[in-house]
Amino acid sequence: MYEFIPDNPYILLTPGPLSTSKGVRNALLRDWCTWDDDYNQDIVQNIRRRLVTLATRDTGAYTAVLMQGSGSFAVEACLGTAVPQGGKLLILSNGAYGKRMVEMAEVLGIAHTAILLDETEAPDANIVTAALTADPTITHVAFVHCETTTGMLNPLAELAQAVKAAGRTLVVDAMSSFGGIPMDIGELEIDYLISSSNKCIQGVPGFGFVIARRDVLGQCDGNARSLSLDLYSQWQAMDQSGKWRFTSPTHVVRAFYQALDELEAEGGIPARATRYQENHRILVEGMRALGFQTLLPDDLQAPIITSFLYPNERFDFKAFYEAVKARGFVLYPGKISKAATFRIGNIGEVYPEDMRRLIEVVREVVETAK
Ligand SMILES: *Cc1c(COP(=O)(O)O)cnc(C)c1O
Repeated sequence: MYEFIPDNPYILLTPGPLSTSKGVRNALLRDWCTWDDDYNQDIVQNIRRRLVTLATRDTGAYTAVLMQGSGSFAVEACLGTAVPQGGKLLILSNGAYGKRMVEMAEVLGIAHTAILLDETEAPDANIVTAALTADPTITHVAFVHCETTTGMLNPLAELAQAVKAAGRTLVVDAMSSFGGIPMDIGELEIDYLISSSNKCIQGVPGFGFVIARRDVLGQCDGNARSLSLDLYSQWQAMDQSGKWRFTSPTHVVRAFYQALDELEAEGGIPARATRYQENHRILVEGMRALGFQTLLPDDLQAPIITSFLYPNERFDFKAFYEAVKARGFVLYPGKISKAATFRIGNIGEVYPEDMRRLIEVVREVVETAK
């Protein structure tokens, strides 16, 4: 490890990007050759195998495809490749990321229909069943697992079951939950799961990935509506030799490998999930004790990011944000239209002691402002 990796000036509670470890940032510091085995085999192929292992016990049925860009690029590559010309996509949306998939379908010219729920409304699996019964031309269904817009945890198992019982192909945006919430995508029969380097795996931003059923992705040759965001062709190229079709973000990929090592050292996804839950518990209990209320009831809340209501009409978020940042923590503005909120994430290289310190900082800032 190099000596000069600096401490971060603050902790990012903004997933994502989120705060990463020194080990991850240290791993960025050398260059890699993209045609040698020490990159393609030992890093890229290794990452792909480990991602599948993290996602399911049924490792033979799935493959992992990495895609340059932020998480949205991977979502767009997945939707644009998964749905064939004659197919039709149903999008279940209760937040900005669900809406973004609707926009993608529009731009890509994918036949689609959407169930648009309120941001604070929990989706019920029965509405999916009803929509699929009413429209037999729907071939694919997509929804978000943890809606980072609000912090809502959508009912993955129930929704997945409704989609699979109706015999449709299932795409799940698990961007902000994969690696932080245990799940087995084989058991859930998810066909495509999408996430990115800079969320719960705790890498730096630069690529997304799709963990896909081999037999399902195998039918997608020629579907893509984009040359570079072609998940099938990227898979084919990567499967040959670990080579990305176009320039791969080598440093980011190497840092992600380090992040996977650190996830393993922590005890895997169950241990990470426990830490996030503890972070979340300390955050919510602490904020409530200071008079803040959460936007969502506890039973809809994911242990990833939490929306808090402004405590009163005089609340000046900008001043609050600056004061908290000056004391070492960066918060996240709200993203919903109906209520004045701000958000605090609890994923990343963040520990219970950091969350306790955050609560002390918020207390100090609130009292100074009185
Ligand atoms: C972060 C995130 C994305 C991707 O956002 P990018 O800014 O493109 O990385 C997509 N969906 C969800 C639910 C997310 O949290």
